[in-house]
Amino acid sequence: MKKATEFRLEANPRIPEALARLEELANDLFYSWDHGVRSLFVRMDMRLWEKVEHNPKLFLRRVAQERLDEAAEDRAFLAEYRRVLSTYDAYLEAGPGPEVTDRLDPERDLVAYFCAEFGFHESFPIYSGGLGILAGDHCKAASDLALPFVAVGLLYQQGYFIQTIDAQGHQIARYRSHASDELPIVPVEHEGTLLKVSVPFPGRLVFARVWEARVGHIRLYLLDSHTVENSPEDQELTLQLYGGDESTRISQEMLLGIGGTRVLEALGLKPTVWHINEGHAAFQILERCRQAMETGLGFHGALEAVAAATLFTTHTPVPAGHDIFPRDLVEQALGAYLEEAGLDFGEVFALGAKNGGDSFNMTSLGLRGSRFHNGVSRIHGGVASQMEGGIWPQIPPEENPLGYITNGVHVPTFLAPEWASLFDIQAPTWKSELRNPDYWSFIEQIPDYHYWSVHKALKQQMTDYIVRRLKRQHKRNGTGHSVTERMTRQLLSAHTDTLVIGFARRFATYKRATLIFSDLERLEQILTNPERPVVLVFAGKAHPRDKPGQQLIKVIHDLSMHPALMGHLILLEDYDQAMARRLLAGVDVWLNTPEYPKEASGTSGEKAALNGALNLSVLDGWWGEGYDGKNGWGIVPRDTGLDPEFRNQEEARDLLDLLEFEVVPLYYEGASQGYSRAWVKRSKASMISITPRFNAQRMVMDYVTDYYEPAATQGARMVAESGKLAGALADWKARVRDAWPSVELNILGCIQARCVNDEAVELRVEAFLNGLSAGDVRVECLVSPECTGTHSDPGPGSFLLEMESESGGRTVFATRIPPPYPGLQTLRLRMYPYHEALTHPLEMGAMLWV
Ligand SMILES: *Cc1c(COP(=O)(O)O)cnc(C)c1O
Repeated sequence: MKKATEFRLEANPRIPEALARLEELANDLFYSWDHGVRSLFVRMDMRLWEKVEHNPKLFLRRVAQERLDEAAEDRAFLAEYRRVLSTYDAYLEAGPGPEVTDRLDPERDLVAYFCAEFGFHESFPIYSGGLGILAGDHCKAASDLALPFVAVGLLYQQGYFIQTIDAQGHQIARYRSHASDELPIVPVEHEGTLLKVSVPFPGRLVFARVWEARVGHIRLYLLDSHTVENSPEDQELTLQLYGGDESTRISQEMLLGIGGTRVLEALGLKPTVWHINEGHAAFQILERCRQAMETGLGFHGALEAVAAATLFTTHTPVPAGHDIFPRDLVEQALGAYLEEAGLDFGEVFALGAKNGGDSFNMTSLGLRGSRFHNGVSRIHGGVASQMEGGIWPQIPPEENPLGYITNGVHVPTFLAPEWASLFDIQAPTWKSELRNPDYWSFIEQIPDYHYWSVHKALKQQMTDYIVRRLKRQHKRNGTGHSVTERMTRQLLSAHTDTLVIGFARRFATYKRATLIFSDLERLEQILTNPERPVVLVFAGKAHPRDKPGQQLIKVIHDLSMHPALMGHLILLEDYDQAMARRLLAGVDVWLNTPEYPKEASGTSGEKAALNGALNLSVLDGWWGEGYDGKNGWGIVPRDTGLDPEFRNQEEARDLLDLLEFEVVPLYYEGASQGYSRAWVKRSKASMISITPRFNAQRMVMDYVTDYYEPAATQGARMVAESGKLAGALADWKARVRDAWPSVELNILGCIQARCVNDEAVELRVEAFLNGLSAGDVRVECLVSPECTGTHSDPGPGSFLLEMESESGGRTVFATRIPPPYPGLQTLRLRMYPYHEALTHPLEMGAMLWV
């Protein structure tokens, strides 16, 4: 008997006139941080809201007509609807404040921000982890500040995978296609037709459709190769985030960098600052060089013009986070494009070569194609300066141009609405004080019991959520009901307010998710003490190709099923932004145990701190700056030169010591009176010290001040008068590069070994400049004090030497300086090429010491 074919039909409601603007709200990612918008949907139909996975567009397609009609008649609902709309309208109307307009001119300036992933909300799954969430937060804060800003990325039909963990603890990766009409995007039309751009690929053009996502004040453009002009294979190029092989990856990156630049050009947008967020987007440099060459500049002149307006941010010291392509692949993939663009393969390849090797590193391209560069925390800035030091081979890494801005998180997105409401009462202007550390002491005024009751309510919501998720997981896996019951018993205990510790992030091996299990017997004693029980909650995805990462999941799964730990260890599947918000707002402690110094920043601990959780983490990434001794607990990383096994053991012991002797006792201290006052004190100290320093507004304003404004200025200078300065600088650099290998610098005479401290010391050097002139170099003396035993080392003072005479290729430089420090000091003399048009004095990477 033939089975009946099923035809699916979706009957859509008509949106009542009174609620017409719901569709507008569903199409602006404003909903991803404004709780008021989301609560409209929740009020209409909470079950449907859960069923459509918090997706407003799907919600409006599937909600029952009668719910809409009821809402349109419901006075309370309408009042709320109008309140939300007026908030929304006021948000869109507000222009940039003086902190922005003093630095960027909204009429002239535009920042273009490129990234391979964006994590705004669980309903828009084009992110995998921290990088994407950070990019989303950057855009949201740029919108809050009303920056002149546009973002560019790729639309992946399937995005990142959905994770299930089976009964044996294996991760199963599933992909689901998302129709574009389910997502908060609209197709971009230009001059009456759908906008498409193309990029030359080997033997063909690859086309991309363009979508626009609204993020409050700003727009995000997303390219998508799923269009009829392309072959079926090419249509799949943008199928998955971080899917396919390295050929897929380089193709995606060509679409993002080259195609993305073409989108902005087609729309008539003329960015004055270009921010490349991680190496994936670095091919934009080539396309912009091509554009600049149309004005008559040569390749190197064009590169100067492009680089001067460009900021490159590197996000990880972990090698797998850097795209490195073999030479053959690059030649094959880029060949047709380079030919069309009139770019020389050898010159382009040199931009990506690392340590003279035969492969092409996207990070190197990003660094060589930009004059502004940064890492994402103080520690990471230092590590990246070392790692990438080869770009400036003769410069000591601590002096090279790679700086840092520490990541921050978007407060409206990650702060639980319960806290926001409390702040509204205690300190009504808190939203405009996110960059003012002095303001936040108002939290001390909140009565402890009130503070704790908010935390407890959020913890209760989290517990319900965990139990719900676990039941669903167990039901699917056929896990017995009694297991679920035992696993959730501790969490649901009516007698104890159990200490809950969370650990959720990507399961990458450097994050050492299983470090806490290094001494199982001891851990078991700590967790299962009936007087002071502890529950650990884990969640996270491992990349489908990362087998060791998946092994971590299995280890944790197996331990969670072990009778001795049952109920004290819970593993949840399918970590996403919705789960992150729940866990981060509900746990007491947020745990992070990365292998120093590989956690470039980490941001989830910042989100936890906003919500009053205490961080217990290795002093790496942001926590290296955030920890002040009173606002959480820090594990001091052991020397990286030690045997890794030994390091792990040592740091694991510190962790268990902290848990056993500090964290658990503090939490249960005086708990018989309802809660621990000492705990609340620490939690408040954490919120007060971390919220105003590690949020995305502070971060974005740092970018504006330290990089966007200088890049806009420097870029404009370079391109003025058809790129006159860029061309001159490129020619000068070529001349210096040729001459430098034979330049010499020697001391003349000898430097006094002693003097009285009010006498000047004479310094003289001779240089053989090999055709360069005295004006092409700077000669400098660095003076640093001998260790004086104080901690406030002022760093070296520096003094320029002036040209004294020049003849027969020999140039003498000299100066007289009074000794800047009392007692012993060290003098060092050096010379480097100098031109007033340089963005950073050491950007050429050339330096010679006496
Ligand atoms: C914040 C966040 C991350 C990043 O967490 P890290 O601690 O920085 O690794 C990853 N995934 C989601 C869903 C997040 O919200």
